[in-house]
This record gives sequence, structure tokens and C-alpha cells, in this order.
Amino acid sequence: MTIITCHNTCFGYDGYMVINGLNFTVNAGDYLCIVGKNGSGKSTLIKGMLCLLNPLQGEITFCKGFKKENIGYLSQQTVVKKDFPASVFEIVLSGAVGGMGLRPFYSAKEKQLALENMDHLGIADLKECSFSELSGGQQRRVLIGRALCATKQMLVLDEPAAGLDPLAAAELYTLLQKINREMDITIIMVSHDIEAAVQYATKILHVQNKQCFFGTPHEYLEANIGF
Ligand code: ADP
Repeated sequence: MTIITCHNTCFGYDGYMVINGLNFTVNAGDYLCIVGKNGSGKSTLIKGMLCLLNPLQGEITFCKGFKKENIGYLSQQTVVKKDFPASVFEIVLSGAVGGMGLRPFYSAKEKQLALENMDHLGIADLKECSFSELSGGQQRRVLIGRALCATKQMLVLDEPAAGLDPLAAAELYTLLQKINREMDITIIMVSHDIEAAVQYATKILHVQNKQCFFGTPHEYLEANIGF
């Protein structure tokens, strides 16, 4: 099932074009990596997919029944301050707020969801720990756990491994692959790391202020685009 379709789409700001010629689809179950140099328009495209920007040209369409509010999003600039005085459980649980409407308290169902997501992410034993005590890799897992509490369908992550050492980054990519496969969550991830993208993703979108490539990692290697 196709969830997102871009057809001759162009995104930018105040009429100024940043990225154009987008023609790709995101299907349910995809693990799509968007790669490209700094300033190539990756984050702008993500804003378009989150409906924070309207296309300047062309169109972006979403499948019937797909709720954009249900996308779990992890931005590049982490919104939880590193020394924020909250427990791991509280932060993961806060991802469920968007689905609560006006109700001021978490239900047992939301607490259960947070616990299950922590289990999937291997952070259940950190439940009572303070966010500030955790390593960079653990903090990233907590933030992914929070994003997961907002969705059963799609995670969108902007450079989730930025600033992590290579081992922690590899663990994070493996974890996202597990979430993709075992929880059937579609993943869209912006990454600088082409090697990891080729290893873990099911689709690659390479951009440089326009679409340079869209296809499978195998096709991408054959096309020999690289940086
Ligand atoms: P990337 O994520 O690939 O590094 P971005 O999408 O962040 O690239 O930026 C692409 C271009 O869009 C850059 O030239 C940047 O200056 C410009 N840009 C990004 N955000 C804004 C904004 N809010 N208003 C105007 N221009 C922007």
C-alpha cells in the first residue's frame, strides 16, 4: 500500500525553491533513507512530508485514512534538554499526549503502550532513571520510544544518529530495522551515513536540491552516485 506520493513536487520557502523534481512513493513497511549533502534540502523535504510546508509546485498526496498527526517524529534538534529532570518512563509516555485530546491524565492503556515500547527498545530497565544520567545512545532510544508512542504506523527521523559514536550509531540503525520489521512501522530517516543507509534501508532517496536517485540500495550501488 502506498502511503505518500510525490509527483513533480517542489518545496521551498516564500516562493524560493529549495528542492524540486521529486517523484517517489513511500509504501507501508518501507525503511526509506534520505541521503544528500548539507543544505541539499533533506530537512525541507521532511517538513513537506509532515505537512509543515505546502509544495511550491506539483503535489504530495497521502493515502486515504492516513492521519498526519499520527506520524511519530524525531527532529534533528532534540527538544528534550539533556539535563531535563524527568524519568525515562515520563519522557516516553509524553509521546502519547497528542492522541489524548483534552483529557489531562494518562490512561492505563497509554502507560501500557509506553512500557511495551520501552521493552522493544531495550530500555525497560532504565524506567526510573533520569534522562540526564543516560548515555547519548540511550537518550536517543528514549526519544525514539517517545516518538513511537505517537504512532502505530510511521516514524520520521531527522539524523537520529548525529553525534553518536560509530558503535552506538550502528546499534541505533539495527534497532530501527527491528522496529521496522517486527512492529511493522514504516520508517523515513534522513542520514549522512550512506554506508549505513545502504546496509539497513529498503529504499534510498538521494537529493541535491533535486531528486538524484530513488530506488533500492542494490540499484543505488549499481548507479554509483555516492557523494
Ligand atoms: P539539509 O537538511 O539537507 O541540510 P535544509 O533543508 O535544512 O538542508 O536546507 C536547504 C536550504 O534551505 C538551505 O539553503 C537553507 O538555508 C534553506 N532553509 C532551510 N530552512 C529555511 C527556512 N526556514 N527559511 C528559509 N530558508 C531555509
